[in-house]
Amino acid sequence: MYQCDEKRMEDKIKTFAQFGDAGHGGITRYSLSEEAIQARDEFVRRMQAIGATIETDDLANMYATIPGSDPNAKRIVMGSHCDSVKNGGNYDGILGVMGAMEVLETIVANQIPHKHPLTAVIFTNEEGSEFPPCMMCSGILAHDYMPERFRDNFAYEKMMQSKSILDPEMTFGKKLETFKYKGDIQNRMTPEKYQAMFELHIEQGPILEDAGKDVGVVTCVLGQMLYRVKFYGQAAHAGTFPMKKRHDAFHAAAEALCWLHDEIDQLGHEDLVYTTGEVVIHPCVNTVIPDFFDFSIDVRHENPDVLNQVREILQKLPQKEWKGCRCEVELGWNRDTVYWNKELVGYVREAVEELGYSHMDINSGAGHDAQYISYMLPTTMIFVPSDKGLSHCEPEHTSVKQCTQGASVLLNAVLKCDQKDEA
Ligand SMILES: [Zn+2]
Repeated sequence: MYQCDEKRMEDKIKTFAQFGDAGHGGITRYSLSEEAIQARDEFVRRMQAIGATIETDDLANMYATIPGSDPNAKRIVMGSHCDSVKNGGNYDGILGVMGAMEVLETIVANQIPHKHPLTAVIFTNEEGSEFPPCMMCSGILAHDYMPERFRDNFAYEKMMQSKSILDPEMTFGKKLETFKYKGDIQNRMTPEKYQAMFELHIEQGPILEDAGKDVGVVTCVLGQMLYRVKFYGQAAHAGTFPMKKRHDAFHAAAEALCWLHDEIDQLGHEDLVYTTGEVVIHPCVNTVIPDFFDFSIDVRHENPDVLNQVREILQKLPQKEWKGCRCEVELGWNRDTVYWNKELVGYVREAVEELGYSHMDINSGAGHDAQYISYMLPTTMIFVPSDKGLSHCEPEHTSVKQCTQGASVLLNAVLKCDQKDEA
């Protein structure tokens, strides 16, 4: 069993926390920004110091590779993203990059023999903070391998047209064109050149901490469906129109949302999660009874039968009476549960057991780059705990010890994968 180095890991955590430091313990580091360039410069500096070869593809995904003993073997890749949400933390995404760097540094420092070339990757624009959607560039890489029904979402031309939320004149494609690390399409990750992928990530929830475990052996990304629920009423004057005669779309939606919570909770699935996080109201004037209200509902669970039960409840909404308003339910999008490659999950489990860290199987409620890559390569993930379950905020924290343990699991799992086809 090999171990990664806590001191070196701590140094990386402190260094990367400077790039986009928002001044209160976290970072704002959008993809393709000046801060992202600083983080990538640091990645290049550290990877060149151990003799890694740096490549960038046409999407500015970056790859640092050290050779193995077999020049014809496919690469095993590790990594994640280095962009953040606005006022995000110092671990989401970047831990997967630092963990991959730490693995390569440990292998070089200890001259650990391995057959396959090993690569650390930074995926461009995972958060989609300035240019939506999330996981854009891993999505483009995997485009041809995705199920047909959401392939369109990641069509190259469409992604290049993605508009900046900060500057309506700017598109992703335009900004990428002048970005320091835009490279060659030939350097893209493909199944011809790559064998498998591992992503180390913080859990971003409280499950590992509550269970007192150091490492999560991730088995899947939860199936997810997004619906929009819309109510159509009648606008009228807030001062002159009697309560009894109103068709108030907001009041209708409020009642329907409470009804939904009651019905869904009665299903009794403890690990089912669902969220209304976005609403649209029209005309949104304090003297006018609203004639339109639209809310999102995002539902996640591993088992498609459970998602179907929720779907049936949602489909009852238009048949019911909601304050005299018409109700429509529309499917935004859905995706099935993505299960990680069983062999790779096995390597992670063996590695964590041999290292003697406490662990449990866990699923991911959040989306990750690995999820799209899994359409083209065998893929898996490793989680380490998030203090108080907090993420996508400045107090996001994981101890140096836990980050290093995650990297050690990554290292040993990758070495198991490396040795696997040694006949
Ligand atoms: Zn992330």
